Amino acid sequence: MTEVDAVVVGSGPNGLAAAVTLARAGLSVQVLEAQAVAGGGARTLELGLADGVVHDICSAVHPMAVASPFLREFDLPARGVELLQPEVAYANPLDGGRAALAYRSLDRTASALGVDGSAWRQLLRPLVDDPDGVVAVALGDHRRVPRQLGTAAAFGVRLAEQGTFAWAARFRDQEAAALLTGVGAHAITRLPSLSAAGTALLLASLAHAGGWPVPRGGSGAIVGALLADVQMHGGTVVTGTRVDRAEDLPPARAYLFDTSPRTAVRVLGQRLAGRVARGLVAFPRGRGAAAKVDLVLSGPVPWAHPEVALAGTVHLGGSRVQTAAAEAAVASGGHAERPTVLVSDPGVVDPSRVTPAGLRPFWAYAHVPAGSTLDVTEAVLAQVERFAPGFRDLVVASRCIPAARLAEHDANLVGGDISGGGASMYRMLARPRLAWDPYVLVPPRGGSRATGAAGAWLCSSSTPPGPGVHGLPGWYAARRALRDGFGLPSDPSLAPWD
Ligand SMILES: Cc1cc2nc3c(=O)[nH]c(=O)nc-3n(C[C@H](O)[C@H](O)[C@H](O)COP(=O)(O)OP(=O)(O)OC[C@H]3O[C@@H](n4cnc5c(N)ncnc54)[C@H](O)[C@@H]3O)c2cc1C
Repeated sequence: MTEVDAVVVGSGPNGLAAAVTLARAGLSVQVLEAQAVAGGGARTLELGLADGVVHDICSAVHPMAVASPFLREFDLPARGVELLQPEVAYANPLDGGRAALAYRSLDRTASALGVDGSAWRQLLRPLVDDPDGVVAVALGDHRRVPRQLGTAAAFGVRLAEQGTFAWAARFRDQEAAALLTGVGAHAITRLPSLSAAGTALLLASLAHAGGWPVPRGGSGAIVGALLADVQMHGGTVVTGTRVDRAEDLPPARAYLFDTSPRTAVRVLGQRLAGRVARGLVAFPRGRGAAAKVDLVLSGPVPWAHPEVALAGTVHLGGSRVQTAAAEAAVASGGHAERPTVLVSDPGVVDPSRVTPAGLRPFWAYAHVPAGSTLDVTEAVLAQVERFAPGFRDLVVASRCIPAARLAEHDANLVGGDISGGGASMYRMLARPRLAWDPYVLVPPRGGSRATGAAGAWLCSSSTPPGPGVHGLPGWYAARRALRDGFGLPSDPSLAPWD
């Protein structure tokens, strides 16, 4: 086998971000991917449910792609990836035909929230005014004090409020409380909690700063642009190649794992120091998980509140109390009677997703306990029907992948864990283990570009800053590999014209 400088195991957004960074530094790079199609959690595939309808099998909505310093410099729009912005970033319907709506504009959102408008504005204004500060706090490698100390302090104060039972003091009506709770529920954990509050503050402020866009044609457009860049810089991507043992790895001077920590332990075996291996194996999996449902609809969803139809993402948990109860059931290992369901109808903003016959994909997942084998199709249909009477009549075809089977489509999604492992506040900092450098698995020999490396790094969402399609763990790990393994301290340009 020909030796390459670096092998990346796994072609999710983080594996590809690592491969882009390494290839642009002049290294020869090979990406090995177990599945038939590269792209991991950002693939858009035909599922055979209806001719011409393609589905986002994992991620669909991309606030992180707009916010990510890696993807900003990579410049998706300049590479032809259109990030389409729905007028309403996200919506949270309530019983009785009511709904809370997060428009792109903070002021418009606050005005529509009536009595809680100024409380919403006061909560988010300092964060919306400094999105770079918020990104530094929430999406950094968590190993540096952010320069934006004022924003960090504002974030911290709000985290302490919304992450504890003090959250009840802010809003008087149901709408604003439900709106923020639906965003926090992305953390799939007990509410209130610090990690859910961190998620809520990050994603809610990004909605008013850069939006929650959907890429034209689906999430696959994002990984398509990354793949093209890897190949343009001489890298190769081999699909259908699962790496299970050390013998599956071709000779290389550096290995980057866009995998679960346990896969890295299995493959690297004795090459890992015992303390590192023990830390990786001890990294807990998330207790909450997702079960995926893909539908084909014959028309737009008849939401009881008409403006919900303008939203790219809809959180279906009902009120704050109802959503917290559903998340508590899942955190205790049970199924909620009315689970939190997240849905997206990309046809709302992307006409290319609607066939000439009017068929459109509908993306949904429900929160369930890790490892659940339940087919949640009925629970998802019931939750949508609750806020959109007549919805069931539009369903032409459906497919459910229970949480326990998500790993068949992406080995990182063990038991349906979409967060890459435990996502408590402690685990957001100490993921996958408590270490100054959370990415390094086998420390490199160091040296120059000609002589260095022989190290290994973890670059998946099991490292900081955690889940989302932002490519940041891949970028952070690859820059460490370049610096510590190959003696290349300056970061390669990511600009499309380089
Ligand atoms: C249902 C669902 C909905 C989501 N929705 C959103 C969303 O709307 N917005 C958002 O930002 N994020 C969303 N996410 C999260 C997002 O998809 C992930 O955080 C992100 O994809 C993580 O990227 P990654 O590169 O670390 O891992 P992954 O995307 O999981 O990629 C890992 C890759 O490695 C491969 N691999 C694993 N083990 C091996 C091996 N041993 N050998 C070879 N290859 C291997 C896998 O096949 C896969 O291609 C969602 C996730 C799921 C599951």
